[in-house]
Amino acid sequence: MVTHIGAPRRREPATIHINGLSKDYSTPRGTVHAMGTVNLTIHAGEFICVVGTSGCGKSTLLRMIAGFEQPTTGNIKVDTLEVEGPGPERGVVFQDYGLFPWLTVEENVAWGPHQQHLGKSIVKERCEKYINAVGLERFANRYPNELSGGMQQRVSIARVLANEPSVMLMDEPFGALDAMTRSSMQEELVRLHHEIGITVLFVTHSIEEAVKLANRVVVMTGGAAKGIPGHVRGIVDIDLPAERDVTGERFNALKRQISQMVNTEEG
Ligand code: ADP
Repeated sequence: MVTHIGAPRRREPATIHINGLSKDYSTPRGTVHAMGTVNLTIHAGEFICVVGTSGCGKSTLLRMIAGFEQPTTGNIKVDTLEVEGPGPERGVVFQDYGLFPWLTVEENVAWGPHQQHLGKSIVKERCEKYINAVGLERFANRYPNELSGGMQQRVSIARVLANEPSVMLMDEPFGALDAMTRSSMQEELVRLHHEIGITVLFVTHSIEEAVKLANRVVVMTGGAAKGIPGHVRGIVDIDLPAERDVTGERFNALKRQISQMVNTEEG
């Protein structure tokens, strides 16, 4: 079902400036050079997918933008504000939904706005708006364990959007879903992005998913396990219309181009 969001958003989509960012982890077995120097600008309203094989530093990058990890060098600015920790202007959607099982759908979605001490009527309005936006109006009083995986992931997206963030960070959000559900969630996310105009950074190891969703794909390679810190191999512009034909020639040419970049290290 298509629900249109009419009311203006409080926060405009933000630009993310990543400057000289790197990350080492200290472990009992020594230092892990997880990510080498990354410079990247994600423009306001873009839908960026980050792809790469396991261990190349995709989640590390996302977690630093989220403020969950501190960079070893460099910094991140969301518009002009330097990231020093988590903040309500950056919402994060995880693969395992991260819902509170003891709260209903509506209570889960209301959680963020409550934490921001917004008035009761605004909280109610936001809950309605974003629960409707993800098509769950008939399930507002259900608990997470009464819902399918796809529905739980919709709740977690609504919960993030209810904070009206300027950036949405998504770490393999559809990785645990079956192929059909995943495909319909991808379509819904494209629609939501179009309607809400938020900046999205979406981590996936599926090249097809990246070409379906993004306007630019950031390809990462390397990884501590390979002895080369993870880094950006290249960025591919997805010059496809909003409605994408996964069987189309250009779609498949882009998939092949990205696949080659993922699977070959520059020498
Ligand atoms: P990806 O998301 O691309 O699979 P990650 O960002 O999760 O990669 O990991 C990059 C590298 O950093 C991997 O070698 C991983 O083992 C290592 N790593 C990630 N988190 C930690 C941590 N908390 N402590 C030590 N090493 C870590």
